Amino acid sequence: MIRHETLNPPPHIYPINPWKIIETAFYPRFLAQTETIFSVGNGYLGFRGNFEEGRPTVQNGTFINGFHETWPIVYGETAFGFAQTGQTMLNVPDAKVIKLYVDDEPFYLPTAMLQIYERTLDMQSGTLDREVLWETPSGKRVLIESRRLVSLSQRHLAAISFQVTVLNDHAPVVICSEIVGDQPNQSGDKDPRQSKGFIHNPWITEHHYGRKNRLMLSHRVKNSGMVLACGSDHHIETECEYNRSSSCDGDYGKVEFSVDARMGKPIQIFKYIAYHTSRGGASPLELCERCERTLDRALKLGYPPLVKEQRDYLDDFWQRADIEIEGDPEKNTRPAGEMQQALRWNLFQILQACARAEGTGIPAKGLTGQTYEGHYFWDTEIYVLPFLTYTAPRIARNLLRFRHSMLDRARERAKEVNQVGALFPWRTINGEEASAYYAAGTAQYHINADIMFALRKYAEITDDKALLFNEGAEMLVETARMWLDLGFYSKRQGGCFCIHSVTGPDEYTTVVNNNAYTNLMARENLWHAAQTVQFMRENFAEHYANLVHRTGLAEEEDQHWQEAADRMFIPYDEELCIHPQDDSFLDREVWDLKQTPKSRFPLLLYYHPLVIYRHQVIKQADVVLAMFLLGDEFTREQKHRNFDYYDPLTTGDSSLSACIQAIVSAEIGDEEKAIKYARYAVLMDLADVGGNVKDGCHIASMGGTWMVAVYGFAGLRDFGGNISFDPRLPDMLKSMRFALTLRGQRLEVKMTREKTHYTLSGGDRLQVTHQGEELTLSVGETIECPNRPPPIPEGHEK
Ligand code: BGC
Repeated sequence: MIRHETLNPPPHIYPINPWKIIETAFYPRFLAQTETIFSVGNGYLGFRGNFEEGRPTVQNGTFINGFHETWPIVYGETAFGFAQTGQTMLNVPDAKVIKLYVDDEPFYLPTAMLQIYERTLDMQSGTLDREVLWETPSGKRVLIESRRLVSLSQRHLAAISFQVTVLNDHAPVVICSEIVGDQPNQSGDKDPRQSKGFIHNPWITEHHYGRKNRLMLSHRVKNSGMVLACGSDHHIETECEYNRSSSCDGDYGKVEFSVDARMGKPIQIFKYIAYHTSRGGASPLELCERCERTLDRALKLGYPPLVKEQRDYLDDFWQRADIEIEGDPEKNTRPAGEMQQALRWNLFQILQACARAEGTGIPAKGLTGQTYEGHYFWDTEIYVLPFLTYTAPRIARNLLRFRHSMLDRARERAKEVNQVGALFPWRTINGEEASAYYAAGTAQYHINADIMFALRKYAEITDDKALLFNEGAEMLVETARMWLDLGFYSKRQGGCFCIHSVTGPDEYTTVVNNNAYTNLMARENLWHAAQTVQFMRENFAEHYANLVHRTGLAEEEDQHWQEAADRMFIPYDEELCIHPQDDSFLDREVWDLKQTPKSRFPLLLYYHPLVIYRHQVIKQADVVLAMFLLGDEFTREQKHRNFDYYDPLTTGDSSLSACIQAIVSAEIGDEEKAIKYARYAVLMDLADVGGNVKDGCHIASMGGTWMVAVYGFAGLRDFGGNISFDPRLPDMLKSMRFALTLRGQRLEVKMTREKTHYTLSGGDRLQVTHQGEELTLSVGETIECPNRPPPIPEGHEK
């Protein structure tokens, strides 16, 4: 249950619109939230939704995925194997600033008399548009129309169209386009989730120059050695007379247009922005040259074709990834309308977090904020990869290959914590473990199994054998080795394979023995590794030989993995007929959530960790998550009982919970809870359910909302790559449609409460199961199936 139920700002500050988020007035009190909500990005570069004029702002933010500074972690009391190097994604020079002065008065929203204000994030065109009609104190009516985009097709490019028209008079107008370096970094000392900031100045200025309409700055980062160049260029179109001047020093550059604005004559500026970065291999000068080339090409192309490219990219994305839902017209359609809008926005934000994340991961907040230091967690593999695997397999592949690129570091990390094989870092940017709090960090060994779980799904759904046999198999071998080394055969547990002193997904219960989630997922990891190795040995000798060469794999290793998996200890309590979260969970005192004031959530901000750890209280789905991911390993009865036990203990203090609770509620037939949790998950950020959207989007929860629709409402299950559906559309919806890409084929699914249509619109033949009945679809064929009513939840039978 979610205890701290806030819907703030209420979703109605954004009028319901299926494809747009519109802000119809300037709301200073929602400034911090809207800076996140109106973010634009492409997975490489991200701009928070700050205004062009640069003020007012709460967190001004421009981020490059993976572009970070490192710093030594200082422990009051250190111990062997603790993570040594912190990593923080930097707030890079801000090139989106365009200031406006009319009669030398600055345009500044909080004091401006606004006759029109509208800001729109258009998810079909991929642009952030603003229209403002400002009446200056001297009565001049100034129309400002801007459009910002971070190009999805050109990774290093962003562009802004900025048009000013003085409608009723003539006036001196100055438009000052800037690049501002030395940006402040988030420095939250009260909230452990926020980035800590720096004591030192991380930037070393390298080259800087201004030439006509062009500005260029480059920097090196002190400790990490990373290098960045940022440039901008401008094109002006106007019938009014103007002068241009420019200057650029180490941290600041500007191109200023002073215009004699005539009545009704627009002044149109196109600003092109380029960022290039390197881990240190390329020199600052070389990166400046790359920016020059990006800018030359953009100028040649022009702004309207860039907008068209953006639209084409998104048309393709939505064609593969959209989920269309329709409210029941006989009921209040408002909740369905809100859900549609928020769901699309969630998917759009995921795309913005990863579309061009080539050679990097997905930060927990995407490129919308520095919270969690821009780190990559299991969020990507468990919460976002399902969506990408089924709708954008190329991006999913890049992300898995990126994990593989960290394998050598993971091997080193395993050694540092006295294990063999490889241990992926709980949180990282550059592959090194960056978690300074081992109890809720390094101890989450399940990260290994999470990555391998995502690999398995990806390989089954895409049939990408190349990735499985190369990068995949190598990771499987090393992760399996780690598990075999980490656990042991316990005499006290009848010779079962036990894994001790680990933390599961629930960070309110740490360093425990036999966390059920970890053991189940480790078992899956071990089985998968053993099967893959055996399959390769028998069928693909060359690939197998290659694997042996890369890993030193010994003939009998897979048998040991198989045995450990077969004998894995899975905690089960015969009395309660539930899976205890770990060996000691049920011995702890139950936290009285009903008596805990709303103001004390999330608990992690108000209670010492030990107080939390000694109670039965859950930050996020743990056993319940395992029941979803490995649903074929639980009986229906167990699912009911486990859910009924854990749901009342779950705070929802993590945004990673509601989506999973919604899916499992739907599966066990509790429609009321399914829709309640689904709403929390879908509106998590747009309605600020967790109260911290100001710090950035919860990308994992966003991925979770796709799962709510597809795994929850449509009842998709894909165990072993077999696709089955068990539709459970909630009462408030009349219909839902979506498409899946399966082994290169396109399956379209349209469902109402009464029936489901399956159409194979691309490919050849496909087998799916509908409520236990097998269907074979040929290309172009649609099969209509009636939906059996969902089962009545236990205890509700008449
Ligand atoms: C959650 C983790 C998650 C991290 C980043 C934490 O609050 O407990 O499971 O990986 O946030 O989203």
